[in-house]
Amino acid sequence: MTATVHGMPRIGPGRELKWALESYWAGKLSDAQLVSVGAGIRRRNWETLTEAGVDLVPVNDFSLYDHVLDAAVMLGALPPRWGHRDGPVNLATYFSMARGGAGPDGSPEPPLGLTKWFDTNYHYLVPELGPATSLRPQASKALGEVEEARAAGAGALKAVLLGPVSFLALSRPGEASFDPWRLMGPLVEAYVEVLASLAEAGTDWVQLDEPVLVGDSSGLELAELERAYRRLAEAGPRPKIVVSTYFGAVGEAMKALVGLPVEGVGLDFCSGPANLALLEAAGGARSKELFVGVVDGRNVWATDLARARQLLDRASSLASGVVVSTSCSLAHVPARVGGDPGVPGWLAPWLAFAEEKAGEVALLARGLDQGWGSVEEVLQANRDLLAARRSDLRCADPAVRRRVAALPKDGQGRPASAGERRSAQEVALGLPVLPTTTIGSFPQTKELRAARAARRAGHLDEGAYQARLRAEVDRVVGLQEELGLDVLVHGEPERDDMVRYFAAQLRGFALPEAGWVQSYGSRCVRPPVLYGDVSRPEPMSVEWWAYAASRTNRPMKAVLTGPLTMLRWSFVRDDQPFDETAAQLALAISDEVSDLQAAGARVIQVDEPGLPEGLPLRRRERPGYLTWATRAFRLAVAPAAATTQVHTHMCYADFSDIMGSLADMDVDVVSLEAARSHLDHVAGLASSAYEGGIGPGVYDVHSTHVPSTGELYALLAKAVSELGPDRVWANPDCGLKTRRYEDVVPALAHLVEAAHQARAGARL
Ligand code: GLN
Ligand code: ZN
Repeated sequence: MTATVHGMPRIGPGRELKWALESYWAGKLSDAQLVSVGAGIRRRNWETLTEAGVDLVPVNDFSLYDHVLDAAVMLGALPPRWGHRDGPVNLATYFSMARGGAGPDGSPEPPLGLTKWFDTNYHYLVPELGPATSLRPQASKALGEVEEARAAGAGALKAVLLGPVSFLALSRPGEASFDPWRLMGPLVEAYVEVLASLAEAGTDWVQLDEPVLVGDSSGLELAELERAYRRLAEAGPRPKIVVSTYFGAVGEAMKALVGLPVEGVGLDFCSGPANLALLEAAGGARSKELFVGVVDGRNVWATDLARARQLLDRASSLASGVVVSTSCSLAHVPARVGGDPGVPGWLAPWLAFAEEKAGEVALLARGLDQGWGSVEEVLQANRDLLAARRSDLRCADPAVRRRVAALPKDGQGRPASAGERRSAQEVALGLPVLPTTTIGSFPQTKELRAARAARRAGHLDEGAYQARLRAEVDRVVGLQEELGLDVLVHGEPERDDMVRYFAAQLRGFALPEAGWVQSYGSRCVRPPVLYGDVSRPEPMSVEWWAYAASRTNRPMKAVLTGPLTMLRWSFVRDDQPFDETAAQLALAISDEVSDLQAAGARVIQVDEPGLPEGLPLRRRERPGYLTWATRAFRLAVAPAAATTQVHTHMCYADFSDIMGSLADMDVDVVSLEAARSHLDHVAGLASSAYEGGIGPGVYDVHSTHVPSTGELYALLAKAVSELGPDRVWANPDCGLKTRRYEDVVPALAHLVEAAHQARAGARL
């Protein structure tokens, strides 16, 4: 075998899984129907790979919701609150763990935590481990997929499993004093059983994913790695093992990795070019197959085949065999470029999504196998293509370049200090203590979606569509007044996506129509492709803000997407440094901030959920990233006067590393995800240099649970006790877009009530 991929997109090219899941949750699809949609997606993926010429095909890379949850289920590592004993986990329990739902006695149970998958914007469910975790393995899912792949005529099979070290490192203790590493022994025995059954089913390879090795690996982790794989290697029967790493270079883990008694090692040479030098320094992977990740699984640009060829030639001399591979799973890119009406003809050949990347992997393997001469024509065409891209005028805007070059070295910021801004805003806004607000979006109703679809199909003209949107804004503003919220929003009905909406109005972006990528569960996003210099020809959101503001006397918050989030949630050009692209985005957004302010906006929120997401996995690289990321943010909000209150919002991340940077962002109020982490971050903020307002997101909008006034009050009271009453805001932990009004209305009513009680409780 010479060609493989880590995994394929699992939502289906037409988001088949999303539609199936949503009908299933609505009770309109049976278990069997849902399962068969999954089988269809898998079959198609195997066909695509086989047709492309990929000869080692992944199985068990599919998931109905999340692959980390699948690993927990496979290992029998379920939190005790689901009361699961032995045997297969049914779909009801599976989805309750993912989304919250009835436990064994029918009472509602909270879901597992949701957090981002390394530095991607995919989110995984965090397994909970405790002394009661029983680890009774249950490999039926993987085995079923092996059988299906065989029936579909796939060739050599590679089962994809999260490896034991990463599984433990990504889990959290179910109770405070428990150390998950205590479970390593029984966990490895569970893997031994799973591997034995995979071997029996005729699986050739098992890919054990150990992406934690690209972060800072502790001595403990490396010792556990060696111990675990020694045991797995000596157990038998088992498939051949490839220990797979991705999302960066493995650093200090290289020596341990190449020394493991397994048959294969996988390295990412796209996000981790340093792997080559590390591998050479470690003396190569002599007795092993090296799975060389040369085709980038995380970005969408056509591979530089000449560079890939060079790398493969060098890698060949460092291992006993080479398997050409992607850098990571292709689940992080859309299904295919071909035929996408949102991709202009001139741009399409520069791009490669999952299907095209599978073709690149197979082509490189052919070159390696049969001699590069056999693919010379393709290599030449690729050279020409890349040369054309480098000199294409559509990518370079001299005015934008001049503007970035003219910026002072440390960038620009707001002139007034945090303290001055606070006093100015107290007067200008006159808000009560513990002000209540939301993050921006209100539920996207069936009617709204229908109107959008009708407009797309040409059944509704632009004027009528705009009138519907205005009616929606009227309704949302009215509702917020009735609920008694203090700082209102317009509800974002015109935005189908917070990044795409702005990208569509900026120069330098293309918007693939079918370019869907899974974010978590059934949620998908369509990242824009940022190919050229960015600028803002016209105001993007001012009209909507002004309309909404005209409907109320209360402060109307304008909501924009920040430069780092635009960067992180797009597929970004790879021909200039990210910080330069970030500065271009920041200037475009600062133009919008200026115009909003000129139109009368006194509260402007610049969302940056993508900022913490972009933190490098290695600690020592973080300060460098934070320097240019906060510089870009400051630049974006630099036009905001002292009286204009600048908010930012971030969610689903580990905030400990960015606490220190909040003070550098020139923000007045920050809202953070907090409900699922029980406000753990808030204590950190109390002791940081940041002096502004904090809205710990006390209402978890990613769960179907409607929090009671009591629950919300308890969280607010905790925040007040940590931060004092003057800094706390009451708000949900993210936009309400995906929720239903039936849940949102009572939840917000409880939030307002809880804030009132907290005001009274604090005797304010
Ligand atoms: N303003 C956005 C919204 O409310 C923020 C979304 C996000 O943080 N992901 O939908
Ligand atoms: Zn959010």
